[in-house]
Amino acid sequence: MDQKKVLIIEDEKSISDIIKFNLVKEGFAVETAYDGQDGLVKAIASEPDLILLDVMLPIMDGFAVCKKVRETSTVPILMLTAKEEEVDKVLGLELGADDYITKPFGMRELIARIKANIRRSEFMTAQADAPENVREFGNLSIDLNRYEVRKNGQPLELTLREFELLKYLAERENKVFSREQLLEEVWGYEYYGDIRTVDVTVRRLREKLEDDSSDPKYIMTKRGIGYYFRRP
Ligand code: CA
Repeated sequence: MDQKKVLIIEDEKSISDIIKFNLVKEGFAVETAYDGQDGLVKAIASEPDLILLDVMLPIMDGFAVCKKVRETSTVPILMLTAKEEEVDKVLGLELGADDYITKPFGMRELIARIKANIRRSEFMTAQADAPENVREFGNLSIDLNRYEVRKNGQPLELTLREFELLKYLAERENKVFSREQLLEEVWGYEYYGDIRTVDVTVRRLREKLEDDSSDPKYIMTKRGIGYYFRRP
């Protein structure tokens, strides 16, 4: 495996240093930024394979950085959130973060999560060269191999998680899944998230897929149970 580059955007130098030390030991190249603005510049200029992004940062906070990076890049973003700040997790996912980890965290868990997120991102990139495998659902076409979704022929920008959730549901039309099932099947055992993550991702997907996200035609809610995909 060629050397992967991680950008750490974290203002607490002691935390940044220990993460850097451990990542270098694992064979990663590491770049650091200590405020949001510098982090954003480096995120764009140095094209890291993953960004580790703290929420509370000087000049520009982690949410603002996440939002700006997402305007131009699909790089995996792993957010560092302070303990008990549940709202942070949800907001980070709303803004397009791929994953989050709560402080204080163990180094082994952090490294496992970094590797898992990079693997998933590489998998997605590899899919772009795969043969087409397009399924049509009304105005929507989903290329299951290439991770491409079009609506009325126009490509939609989905994150990997959003695509994986859509693919999972669309391949199992009309079958209802609970949030817990989706978290386990789509996010996988590596994910320590809570079920609201599923709701947030469904909401983001609907905003992208549906004509009116408050009156969905594709991703349906089964009240009290969960979600399912329907051909409109
Ligand atoms: Ca901080």
